[in-house]
Amino acid sequence: MKITIAGAGAMGSRFGLMLHNAGHEVVLVDGWKDHVEAIQKEGLKANFNGEEVIVKLPALLQSEVTETATSDLIILFTKAMQLEKMLNDLKPVIHEKTKVLCLLNGIGHEEVIEKFVPKENIFIGNTMWTAGMEGPGRVKLFGSGTVALKNLVDTEEAKKGALEIVEVLNSAGLNANYSENILYAIYKKACVNGSMNGLCTILLSNMYEFGSTTDAHMIVENIVKEFAEVAKFENIEINVSEIVEYIESNCYNCKTIGLHYPSMYQDLNKNNRLTEIDYINGAVVRKGEKYGIPTPYCAFLTALVHCKEQILGAK
Ligand code: NAD
Repeated sequence: MKITIAGAGAMGSRFGLMLHNAGHEVVLVDGWKDHVEAIQKEGLKANFNGEEVIVKLPALLQSEVTETATSDLIILFTKAMQLEKMLNDLKPVIHEKTKVLCLLNGIGHEEVIEKFVPKENIFIGNTMWTAGMEGPGRVKLFGSGTVALKNLVDTEEAKKGALEIVEVLNSAGLNANYSENILYAIYKKACVNGSMNGLCTILLSNMYEFGSTTDAHMIVENIVKEFAEVAKFENIEINVSEIVEYIESNCYNCKTIGLHYPSMYQDLNKNNRLTEIDYINGAVVRKGEKYGIPTPYCAFLTALVHCKEQILGAK
């Protein structure tokens, strides 16, 4: 299958490398010039579960995508704020049968994708795989993960498309599943990110340090309540105490995982990069305004992260 990885940072490189190794025709498309040039010159270098590998695969700057490069499947892996520009640059390769799978963190990306792709070709999901950038042309890929996905539109044809994508991902060992409950899964992950990412970024703490504070439970509960309130308007039932308990036992009461600094912490505090806060807590604020629900915790956290982005001059 001809697969375009749109956004070939850490996660895009992981999926690109694994799909290429499984025999698919993969093209990496990205906006970071040094990264694309490094891959074109020397291949994609990865520390893949402790083994050093170099994979030669085509990489293109997104501004240089032309109509000659058609694609059966596009996997979106930009950061959320880069998504619209990427889709605009990919217009020449999106034809009427191109399937587009979005695995970004955050909620509501389908509203952007729908501007460029017919709804019946859009597939949404999330992933528990992880990856890290080590520099232009170089990534670190450790551990294992899963993918859950579903068609956006409920037709037999679209479901067939989703199952085909599941099969393609599984041919590369990406442990994919069709999930009837994908919106719930996307919201659940957004609750985790919406609690841990912004707070640890502002507090300069890892998840365990934050979780050890007396107010951690109260803050997380209030954030999750706001996600649950807006989700209700989209017919998604979120059990607040169940999700809070999930966050507590999987993120910050756990001494191993808890020592992790969320990716937003690393993006902003270490690498001076803009964050995805507008597509996690910020998305809840926008949805709250639309549905008439107050979202003070998410609004305050979003504003604090924006202040920090500006103070640090993040780009
Ligand atoms: P990433 O930051 O590694 O890459 C995203 C884009 O930013 C790519 O186009 C990349 O080339 C560019 N970029 C990265 N570093 C750059 C730099 N120093 N200068 C200029 N451009 C740079 O993002 P990611 O971690 O691959 O995440 C993609 C999406 O997947 C996000 O929505 C993220 O939340 C989600 N996600 C990430 C992980 C993870 O473990 N990394 C896991 C699950 C979901």
